[in-house]
Amino acid sequence: MILEMLTVGPFQENCYIIGDEGSGLGAIIDPGDEAARIALAAERTELDVVQIILTHTHVDHVGAVAQLKEEYACPVLAHAEAEPMLKQVPVQAMMMGLKFGQVPTIDRHIEDEEVLEVGGLQLRSLYTPGHAPGHLAFYVEDEGIVISGDALFAGSVGRVDLPGGNAEVLIKSIRERLLILPDETRVYPGHGPETTIGDEKAHNPFLQGGGLL
Ligand SMILES: [Zn+2]
Ligand SMILES: [Zn+2]
Repeated sequence: MILEMLTVGPFQENCYIIGDEGSGLGAIIDPGDEAARIALAAERTELDVVQIILTHTHVDHVGAVAQLKEEYACPVLAHAEAEPMLKQVPVQAMMMGLKFGQVPTIDRHIEDEEVLEVGGLQLRSLYTPGHAPGHLAFYVEDEGIVISGDALFAGSVGRVDLPGGNAEVLIKSIRERLLILPDETRVYPGHGPETTIGDEKAHNPFLQGGGLL
């Protein structure tokens, strides 16, 4: 497996380039900003980018989608419930004092428990709402990794005060869909450093005891 992480833009968002040497095919997950830098990193991996995959459609995760979609002429995939929010990203950006370029379009919807083939890699989608509508995590069982988007972070969880956010739903998503993965699973989040499922189970203050938050 090839896995590259780039932290991009004013929100320090983690974009991932994932693929496999055997097929030479790859995907970009959550290209949030700095399209040129992401394209350069993709070029260095020597992967042919064939998909752009979104965990959710907050402004900090989609800023470079339109530009990279044009560059690679590849489809953009996301959950259907994440699509309405995409139309609001210019407003989201404006409220944060930022400018947003071209609003990307989604070409194909990803269902829960769908297996996306990226070359020889299999990414299984895990429907994990609560932080944002239609939020998905992606589990690569063969490699023991999960791309957790903004659901689960090292020592924290996603914020729930944005439209469509719900604390109870988020904690349920994390408990029922992520914490059930093997303890040694490496977690690659949408912000901050990587962690493991076991570490978060043991130490994440938002997930201790039986309480919700
Ligand atoms: Zn988010
Ligand atoms: Zn984010």
